[in-house]
Amino acid sequence: MKLEGENLKITVQKTGRLAEPSRQMLQSIGLDFESDEGRLFSPCLNFPLDILFLRDDDIPEYVQDGITDLGIVGLNVVQEKAAQVVQLDALGFGTCTLSIAVPKNSSFQSVYDLKNKRIATSHPRILESFLERKKVKARIIEISGSVEITPSLGVADSICDLVSTGSTLRINELRPIEIVLKSEAFLIANARSLQDRTRQELTERLRVRFQAHLRARRTKYVMMNAPKGALEEIKRILPGMRSPTVVPLAERDMLAIHSAVPEELFWDVIEKLRKAGASDILVVPIEKMVTD
Ligand code: ATP
Ligand code: ZN
Repeated sequence: MKLEGENLKITVQKTGRLAEPSRQMLQSIGLDFESDEGRLFSPCLNFPLDILFLRDDDIPEYVQDGITDLGIVGLNVVQEKAAQVVQLDALGFGTCTLSIAVPKNSSFQSVYDLKNKRIATSHPRILESFLERKKVKARIIEISGSVEITPSLGVADSICDLVSTGSTLRINELRPIEIVLKSEAFLIANARSLQDRTRQELTERLRVRFQAHLRARRTKYVMMNAPKGALEEIKRILPGMRSPTVVPLAERDMLAIHSAVPEELFWDVIEKLRKAGASDILVVPIEKMVTD
């Protein structure tokens, strides 16, 4: 293992659901690299970082063994591989659940109805520990892909598979009955690499950028006009990072008020602001948000 004295290394999925969002995430934090398909390796042109493109199943092990310092991979894969890695940050994409689903017309209502039944999955390890926790003895059938067709083929009575929109389940006439794991893409790290000062500092620089990007995505910048008399009420409504920016307008007794608003509170806040007397409300996306 050679982790010293050279560039930091990160591995991301080559092709598949996380491939494009991972590349975009790296580009959105200002990293400049070639990313044409078919490439296995790209050095970054403006950061001491090399990017490796691999199958997602191999990423946890590469990071665990220190072949690369960092990786971006689904939490489901990290857990299934039982990889000894440090889970640094959830990255807000690739969200899905590992769920148990049964044929639509079956009588199964919960995992407790699956005693002695067959459950097909490509996540046998996670499923096994879930069943153990629930004290349910069922037969796990390990399948590497297209798990969703096993009940209709008579291979299994139910499945434990990744679900995002649920459309694959619907097409195969299955319904979910149990969430086994909530997953999303994670930034993971090799533990020893984090003990090396230079590598740890480079990792932190990347994490600050990731956080700035994620925070910005979760926040909108809201600008509005309001009569001076409404300021105190508007300040109470705005859940901003600090107190809002308040600028007097040429029109007497009118103010322009600016503040950052978290996406999940957005509509609620806008409705309250209008009631409090705000008008000409403008909402703009934030490119990056670097706080403390
Ligand atoms: P690879 O060729 O790299 O082995 P794969 O076929 O195993 O790819 P993908 O289908 O590309 O994997 O999924 C990669 C990850 O995307 C999953 O491990 C999971 O974390 C996430 N994901 C999000 N939604 C879904 C979904 N509906 N189905 C499967 N994976 C999903
Ligand atoms: Zn895979």
